[in-house]
Amino acid sequence: MAKQYVLALDQGTTSSRSILFDRDAQVVASAQEEFKQYYPHPGWVEHDPEEIWQSQKRTALACVKDAGVEPSQIAAFGITNQRETTILWDRATGEPVHNAIVWQCRRTMQLCERLRAAGHEPLFRDKTGLVLDAYFSGTKLHWLLEQDPNLRARAEKGELCFGTVDSWLLYKLTGEHATDLSNASRTLMFNIHSLDWDDELLEILEIPRALLPEVHPTGHIFGYSDLLGAEIPVAAMVGDQQSALFGQQAFHAGDCKNTYGTGCFMLMNTGERPVVSSHGLLTTIAWGQGNRVEYALEGSVFVAGAVIQWLRDELGLLRNAAESEQIAAQVSDTGGVYLVPAFVGLGAPHWDMRAQGVICGLSRGTNRAHLVRAALESISFQSADVLHAMEMDSGITIPELRVDGGAAANNLLLQHQADVLGIPVLRGSSIEATALGAAFLAGLQVHFWESEEQLHRICSEQERFEPQWDSMTRRRAIEGWTAAVQRTRTDLSEVAPAG
Ligand code: ADP
Repeated sequence: MAKQYVLALDQGTTSSRSILFDRDAQVVASAQEEFKQYYPHPGWVEHDPEEIWQSQKRTALACVKDAGVEPSQIAAFGITNQRETTILWDRATGEPVHNAIVWQCRRTMQLCERLRAAGHEPLFRDKTGLVLDAYFSGTKLHWLLEQDPNLRARAEKGELCFGTVDSWLLYKLTGEHATDLSNASRTLMFNIHSLDWDDELLEILEIPRALLPEVHPTGHIFGYSDLLGAEIPVAAMVGDQQSALFGQQAFHAGDCKNTYGTGCFMLMNTGERPVVSSHGLLTTIAWGQGNRVEYALEGSVFVAGAVIQWLRDELGLLRNAAESEQIAAQVSDTGGVYLVPAFVGLGAPHWDMRAQGVICGLSRGTNRAHLVRAALESISFQSADVLHAMEMDSGITIPELRVDGGAAANNLLLQHQADVLGIPVLRGSSIEATALGAAFLAGLQVHFWESEEQLHRICSEQERFEPQWDSMTRRRAIEGWTAAVQRTRTDLSEVAPAG
């Protein structure tokens, strides 16, 4: 039999990508296409659902053509996608009735505030594991129905379909209207304990059930598509961060990954137990396979790689992000300098929206290398804060941290991460953790791969960063960081000017 492959469709916020994997989880071919971002008002972000679909489709066709494989050699599609982005389309024609409202879009912030003021936050938190924030799909869908009474009437008659990007792609590929547990758990409408859309939440958000997709496990035969000229099953759909967790083979409770991009996304598998956070972390469904549903705790750092962009673009201290490593390596430590990039307040576990950025510990001897090093260290210190919150919430000691994302190319950053945490940091050989997760889930579903143990074996190559600090050095560093974080909380606008 000719060699078989799995095709991952990785639909991201700024680009659509398709990646073909062989049985050794090696990338055989890939294609990527950026698409347009629409900013109709300050703080609003939209995508054109047709552009999402067309770009995704073109990359799939290009990828398979490049690889020179026949459609019959593709065992399955696995979809991974930007999460929470909300699409509404006509059930009969498949035409979108509005642009997609992107997860980043802040247009429903006031609605969230109203729901909070009405005392609904604990209910949403208990049932969905999320906080009442404009990121999640529920209030975006409410907004779409609110701005056009005709749409609401049609929604009630069952003439429209709501979906996150996974559902939209599935609909285009197969005509099915469905989603998976990981994506459903990001909508503010899905009860992560009963594993069903929640009538009480739907009533508060004024969403008719007739709009909603059927929810299946993450690994599941969602339908068949003849996009490539043969009937190929869509065998998994999974939100991008959960997909990266699976791609990092974080199959067991306590397994944890951190993705270092513009911000950081850290997820920790908590097994079959949804852990309620007392540090403002989110509880989310990691994935469902068969009857088994696994959960994760999720925390993010708002400003991570972005602090390196800031050094480059606003301060002119760097020519490019990669240069941060050589420059920081010119000094053995920051000389007591701490930089806390609280540019948009501080997230988990501090949750202070009024916090402002701080650079402290400056002396006459402070130079560029100290500042660059302090900026890199701020990424690992913030990540350590999130990881410690996860340990406290779950009662699980995290034994090691798996990493991916653009800034994970930086060895100095990862060594500091290991030092600060006192645990090994592991960087896998595949930089494609997100696409790999969807491929793994789809491949397991169609027996392209047989078991998670097999996936461990084929992905055994990893670079390890071992902690080198003694516990005293670690404690002092964390105390210094914690003191610097305290200083972000002084609101200078409230301090009376001298004289
Ligand atoms: P995203 O998916 O959020 O766009 P990427 O995973 O592509 O992010 O990573 C890009 C981010 O990582 C940028 O913010 C950039 O400043 C940072 N970055 C990229 N390479 C390095 C590096 N070698 N060292 C430190 N930061 C880096």
